[in-house]
Amino acid sequence: MNTKFLTPNDIEEAAAILRRGGLLGIPTETVYGLGANGLDPEAVGRIFEAKGRPQDNPLILHVPGPDWLERCCRDIPESAYALARAFWPGPLTMILPRREIVPDVVTAGLDTVGMRCPDHPVTLAIIAAAGVPVAAPSGNRSGRPSPTCAAHMLEDMDGRIDAIVDGGPCGVGVESTIVDLTAPAPRLLRAGGLPLEALEQALGPVEVDKAITAPLGAGEQPKAPGMKYRHYAPKAPVTVVTGPGGRTAGYIRAHLGARTGVICFDEYAGWFDRCPVRSIGPAADPDEQARRVFDALRYFDGTDVTAIYAQCPGDGGLGLAVANRLKKAAGFHIVEV
Ligand code: AMP
Ligand code: MG
Repeated sequence: MNTKFLTPNDIEEAAAILRRGGLLGIPTETVYGLGANGLDPEAVGRIFEAKGRPQDNPLILHVPGPDWLERCCRDIPESAYALARAFWPGPLTMILPRREIVPDVVTAGLDTVGMRCPDHPVTLAIIAAAGVPVAAPSGNRSGRPSPTCAAHMLEDMDGRIDAIVDGGPCGVGVESTIVDLTAPAPRLLRAGGLPLEALEQALGPVEVDKAITAPLGAGEQPKAPGMKYRHYAPKAPVTVVTGPGGRTAGYIRAHLGARTGVICFDEYAGWFDRCPVRSIGPAADPDEQARRVFDALRYFDGTDVTAIYAQCPGDGGLGLAVANRLKKAAGFHIVEV
């Protein structure tokens, strides 16, 4: 298959690909997604094939606004509408009870479905023109870092999908925050582009799923099936170093081998001028780190490094999501200093 590059002017052509059951790379504010008609089980099945994604890992449905919720979900709590008013379009996915119209392949057989309204004018226009909810996971091959620009998505998907719409680099850079609204208390299933603090301001206290900050024990199942898989990992093994910036940079410098790559904050880039290094933004700016973390993880696959060390932000704001992506890339191989 020849993968076409589309521009933001090609809304009709993009929508037609979705309507006829094809696969389309779509820009969003979080990461690029791999979209298909979310009501067409065969089209959705092709997403799993193109990504090499395990069948038990459900997809999120993307819609142009809260007025599409009723079509796909039932027993929608008032809190869902309040969150949609506060944060949609935006990097928030809500887990809600699903209706029959949503195919099993989208939800991996669960009786719930993840719903999101992405904050990207091009993709909102494409979904509205297609007239169907769009099922879309991140546009990477399964296990790889998520794509935050069209070129990264093409690296993973060239020849496997019908087209990619180039909507520019992603403004947020990490995937959506996922909150489960089907339990008695709201529960954070994935830290993402909407900070936990903002969610709690709107909802009150939110329980945090253990899978976000720690590895799962044998036999433990996360509520978001995707959280159990090795993810975001470059080819070389990653070690995450947590603690104050000066200490973590010092630890990494003391452990550099002949072919070690380093992911660090801007302030420390000069400490590592003899090895492949990717800085991800100032230590105190987790929003910028979120925009750059996947690019940094991807970068090292084009080098000959055999090990990667990463400095890690604290849990405030988007730091929780950045730290989660780094720790998952490291298979939770973490050194505290
Ligand atoms: P991706 O879009 O590739 O970032 O993956 C979507 C994430 O949403 C995965 O971690 C899924 O496990 C999670 N997810 C999707 N639908 C549900 C659901 N109904 N319940 C819990 N988690 C979900
Ligand atoms: Mg993904």
